[in-house]
Amino acid sequence: MLTAIVGINWGDEGKGRMVDLLSRDYDVICRYQGGNNAGHTVVNDRGKFILNLLPSGILREDTVNVMGPGMVVDLQHLCSEIETLHEKGVSVTPNNLKISDKAFICLPYHKQQDILEEDRLADKKYGSTRRGIAPVYGDKYMKKGIRIGDLTDFKTLEEKINDYTTWKNLTIKSYGEEINPREIMQWLSEYGEKLLPYMSDAGGFLSGAVKQGKDVLFEAQLGALRDIDYGIYPFTTSSQTLAAYATIGAGVPGLKLDKTIGVMKAYSSCVGEGPFAAELFGEDAHTLREAGAEYGAATKRPRRVGGFDIVASRFGVQTQGADEIALTKLDVMSYMKKIPVCVAYEIDGELTTTFPMGARLMRARPVFEYLDGFGKDITKCRKIDELPKEAINYINFIEKKIECPIKYISVGAGRDDIVTK
Ligand code: GDP
Ligand code: MG
Repeated sequence: MLTAIVGINWGDEGKGRMVDLLSRDYDVICRYQGGNNAGHTVVNDRGKFILNLLPSGILREDTVNVMGPGMVVDLQHLCSEIETLHEKGVSVTPNNLKISDKAFICLPYHKQQDILEEDRLADKKYGSTRRGIAPVYGDKYMKKGIRIGDLTDFKTLEEKINDYTTWKNLTIKSYGEEINPREIMQWLSEYGEKLLPYMSDAGGFLSGAVKQGKDVLFEAQLGALRDIDYGIYPFTTSSQTLAAYATIGAGVPGLKLDKTIGVMKAYSSCVGEGPFAAELFGEDAHTLREAGAEYGAATKRPRRVGGFDIVASRFGVQTQGADEIALTKLDVMSYMKKIPVCVAYEIDGELTTTFPMGARLMRARPVFEYLDGFGKDITKCRKIDELPKEAINYINFIEKKIECPIKYISVGAGRDDIVTK
């Protein structure tokens, strides 16, 4: 069984939480895109973990975790992530972690460039996590990237670093800064040495595992609306967050997925800048943000919050090709007397339920419908008929509008806080 777990919205839907739960049924878990701009929170009997680079299956002892060629890896950050897990008693070894030799390295100068550019943009900024993601993917497509496999030949690596820093310094110097290639080489040597034992031909490993009949779970970062090609460009990330990319980013482009599980939040949240039609403001936003503890897992930034957005979510379901849905954080809404749902957008005086792009999206205003709240603590519910009828009504309403079956309803952050339909 080859399954992808992907985000339907703007990210932070609870993918890590769902991967942690469903990884019980899989042998291999593979992250296939993105870098340490991800923040996947997992809460289980071993504690609370925020994973940025490591696949969320790392907390299960019997799974193998793969970081695919579609990823960008800040070596220093990965070393500290592994160390943190070791301190918490989670073992990470070359047996349960395999890093693709084709994954790109996110270097200190990528971070530097990201910060300089966000600062230059000031109030026009994209809301980057400032972790170098856009510059490193940019370099990949400029064919000036460094891959994990390059760590095996330091002489050639040094030549490349010398050349790339010369090129980068042409612009960096105008900011009054300069990249020192020797420092970059030192950084690569220090952290590269620690990580080399984990390097492998991830695609070859995955192909072999699938041939042996192993089950593989592909874990995405962010959501459909942040996909570089199909999302709210340029307020997207710089990689492909879609399920269709899973096997490519994992190193096994010839394989076909059996199933795609889309994760969506029972309300909306969006970290960073960009159009967000269903956004709530003032007291409503404040109450929801506090109830859902909506602060970035990677950056601690307060997340923008809003009502569930049918227009954006249906688009997310379609672009992800989701077969089933996990609806998360329903418990958070128990305080609401009336639940706001954005059922359409008004653009230039006209109503639409088709997700617009570009300038039209920027002008979209939400049309809210209000459903009855359920007003009860639902965190102990484990069966669908234990949920209040208003909660079931809300789930059914969303399911019908997004045209995809909701299979899981998450009612808490813990591994077992789940209702399966
Ligand atoms: P990801 O990036 O998609 O993995 O999601 P994040 O980890 O960034 O954000 C989801 C947050 O919601 C985390 O803090 C989770 O622990 C928490 N969470 C996930 N599912 C639920 C749920 O059903 N109820 C509540 N209350 N919290 C949840
Ligand atoms: Mg997150």
